[in-house]
Amino acid sequence: MSHRNLAPLATALLFLAASTAEAKQWRYAGMHPRTGQPGDGLCHLESMHVHSAAPLYADTLYRTRDNVYVFIGDPTPFGYEGPRHSYYGHHPVVLNVLVDIQVDVDVVEYCYHDGPHYHAYEPPPRQEFVDKEDVHYYAGEYPEAYQRENPKRVRVNTVYRGWNVPRPVVTFAPPPQYHGPIIQVGVNVDVDVKVGGRPPPPSREVIIIREDDDDDHHHGHGKHKKHKHKHKGWD
Ligand SMILES: [Zn+2]
Ligand SMILES: [Zn+2]
Repeated sequence: MSHRNLAPLATALLFLAASTAEAKQWRYAGMHPRTGQPGDGLCHLESMHVHSAAPLYADTLYRTRDNVYVFIGDPTPFGYEGPRHSYYGHHPVVLNVLVDIQVDVDVVEYCYHDGPHYHAYEPPPRQEFVDKEDVHYYAGEYPEAYQRENPKRVRVNTVYRGWNVPRPVVTFAPPPQYHGPIIQVGVNVDVDVKVGGRPPPPSREVIIIREDDDDDHHHGHGKHKKHKHKHKGWD
């Protein structure tokens, strides 16, 4: 058998591999960082669309459903200037609400931003939140899926630490209904940044543990009513 006969096959396989790599696209839904570098800003396309660039920090800044990437993080480092909502600590995010897709069962993911932070979205419906001084706190229980994902997702805080982003100023203790981690994150960041210099990373230390739970009843205003929706899926 001649080796020469295999050459066209090898060439064909190489070509196939190359064109597959070129055709690789990533699907996104909703606003997301254009590249993941703060200076590159945000892509504001709301509906499902594709990019040839893979999401940066995909494991921490995004959640996926059917290979669609949905950005759930704080958009502040990327120059976001729209309406924003203040949150404290870890809380659920409902992906189908975020990208306005109707499904029968909510797709619930969790945000692992420590301490005060911003989102472009308001607290999702059908989840229990309490507000204190215009800051939203999750007042429900954290399920096993939240605990399981924690080691991977909580690294979002390492990603944001280097970006030195402004955060909501919270000067009081979280309400007792909040059961998530209480971590003080770089509130007194030095703003006297010298040109060409890099600001020191915000200090990050664990402080106060929550106040005594002296009232047991929860004041959540989450709606528990189930809504039936026409199934549209993610496509
Ligand atoms: Zn986009
Ligand atoms: Zn959050």
